[in-house]
Amino acid sequence: MEKISAMIKERGLKPADCAYHTLRELENGGKIRVLVVKGEKNAHIEYICPQCKHTDCVTQEWKEVSKAAKIRASVKCAKCGFMMKVEKLKGGKKSKPKED
Ligand SMILES: [Zn+2]
Repeated sequence: MEKISAMIKERGLKPADCAYHTLRELENGGKIRVLVVKGEKNAHIEYICPQCKHTDCVTQEWKEVSKAAKIRASVKCAKCGFMMKVEKLKGGKKSKPKED
């Protein structure tokens, strides 16, 4: 899980340069880290697969999701095909009052 950290160092990225950045713990010791640099259309995703412990760093197209979506991004383990999901955080910063 050091490729994204290395990239941040190499490119001198600051939090303000990131459109999205998260690190989540998955079940069974897995992890997933997602970084989207401002102005880029791809997300850098680094993971430890909770199922087979395969680690990898991939880039994939970063798509906007609807507000109602529960999953922000997902990536499939290149080795065993396990689907890892980045769920949106509940109860985070709310920019608007409740609408429902
Ligand atoms: Zn796997």
